[in-house]
Amino acid sequence: MIGLLCTILAHNFVAALGLVNITAELGPRLSPEARIILPNNTAFDRATYRWSTFAEPRFTAVVEVATEEDVAETVKYANEQQFPFLAIGGSHGVTTGLANLHYGIEIWLHRLNWTIISEDGDTATIGGGILVGNLIEALWQKGKYAVTGSCECTSFLGPLLGAGHAVLQGKYGYAMDQLVSLHLVTADGELLDVSASEPDPDLFWALQGAGHNFGIVTSVTTKIYDVPDQGLWAHEDYIYGRDSVENLFETWNQFFPRQPPTVVIVGFILRNVSIDAVNPVLVLSILQENVSRVDSIYTEAFRSVNPISISSGLGTYRDISRWLRFDFNNPVYCTTRNVSALHFPVGLRRWNVTTQRMVYDAFATITAGNSPFNASEFLLEGFPVQGVKAVPEDSTAYPWRGDNLIAYPLLRYHTNMSLDHTAIEVGEGIRRKLLEGSGSEELHSYVNYALGDESPEQIYGYEEWRLEKLKELKKKYDPERRLSFYEPIPI
Ligand SMILES: Cc1cc2nc3c(=O)[nH]c(=O)nc-3n(C[C@H](O)[C@H](O)[C@H](O)COP(=O)(O)OP(=O)(O)OC[C@H]3O[C@@H](n4cnc5c(N)ncnc54)[C@H](O)[C@@H]3O)c2cc1C
Repeated sequence: MIGLLCTILAHNFVAALGLVNITAELGPRLSPEARIILPNNTAFDRATYRWSTFAEPRFTAVVEVATEEDVAETVKYANEQQFPFLAIGGSHGVTTGLANLHYGIEIWLHRLNWTIISEDGDTATIGGGILVGNLIEALWQKGKYAVTGSCECTSFLGPLLGAGHAVLQGKYGYAMDQLVSLHLVTADGELLDVSASEPDPDLFWALQGAGHNFGIVTSVTTKIYDVPDQGLWAHEDYIYGRDSVENLFETWNQFFPRQPPTVVIVGFILRNVSIDAVNPVLVLSILQENVSRVDSIYTEAFRSVNPISISSGLGTYRDISRWLRFDFNNPVYCTTRNVSALHFPVGLRRWNVTTQRMVYDAFATITAGNSPFNASEFLLEGFPVQGVKAVPEDSTAYPWRGDNLIAYPLLRYHTNMSLDHTAIEVGEGIRRKLLEGSGSEELHSYVNYALGDESPEQIYGYEEWRLEKLKELKKKYDPERRLSFYEPIPI
């Protein structure tokens, strides 16, 4: 006991005095399969892993829940004791607000990872802690797929509660647009079964786009689809050099109106010294469903932009995460340790070619030579939008259905707090340029990529009614602001 107290004391004195009793007090209220993990346990490090250690939350205890009742009991206990708490799915959330969680309880959801397909095969009920890669695999075994984020190691729910941008969104809309119902543990530990009609349609609305603010989702029932034609996907990839910037973005702009729901385009600006020792390269992938080769009507123009290299491949829907470097084993997007990674997102209608040159140059400067930021990347997301725009803008809390693209520098460096200021200054500078080039004064910052320094309007939308509605719902469902570490709605 003294050893444990010392370990916890090293974390925080006040928290130590309270949380040292958690095993005795909370333990008997949990299911036999649940586990309380304290800092002196070797499992604590794994349980509190963060993909990005920038602004990470500080936990003094982890409750590895096994049932939804475990989640509810842990929330009630945390409230009784006035301990802060946070649900953790895939540990990929990055936002400054997380650092406001000092010495609280992590509610680790990873064992809520089941997938049960309905008898008619049209929906699945899915545990609130499942990772995207595990969900894709479980459905694939039954010839099904669902709209999920593209990264295997994020959770299914983390992205979904903010929208869930996805390669299948051109056909079906965002991941949140597929929801039938959710099991939710509210901020005061009550269990609710929420759907479009029960118990409060506005709560269902808010969970689609601002969901992290309203409870902990222990499971969802969501639409799923038959995998068509063996799930074939083809991709063609290009690497371009510095001189191609203008041509490339001009070509991409012309491609938009012709982009069908089954074609995805994703780009990265990054350094690859074996290809270009001096300048960043632009890596672009075009992916198409149901074909054995990406249709030349989409590739021809990109081939003529003078790429350094062209490659192509064929696989299935399951391979997409790996092609985009979002697979479980990827060292940049899944298995990093002690790396700070900050996003500065901007939603856009189209590319401003002059701006793209400016931000390319700014990115080249900050990542040059031995810069601590030289492993950074600049992401360019051009997922198809037909399914997204088919859903009325006011039918969910998500405010940015009008956008066609998301661009953001992802500044990465070995965690070193003395570099945070520079990263933020440079990242914000690039973001300002992107915004100025868009011709709009309104920054659209996708909640799941937001840095945390944005205004509520910049994350939740500029329409007055939308923010007012969210504030009223926040007052109703979380008046004590217990769920306030991930882009909290002000009340
Ligand atoms: C490499 C990478 C790839 C990404 N790809 C995509 C993508 O394809 N599409 C997309 O839309 N976004 C994507 N994102 C952004 C992603 O949506 C956010 O990072 C999200 O926060 C990740 O959720 P998580 O559960 O993995 O992280 P966590 O840090 O575990 O959770 C983030 C937040 O979500 C809350 N949360 C998690 N699970 C639940 C739950 N069950 N109930 C209530 N709250 C919950 C947590 O409390 C926390 O506040 C990506 C991010 C990264 C870093």
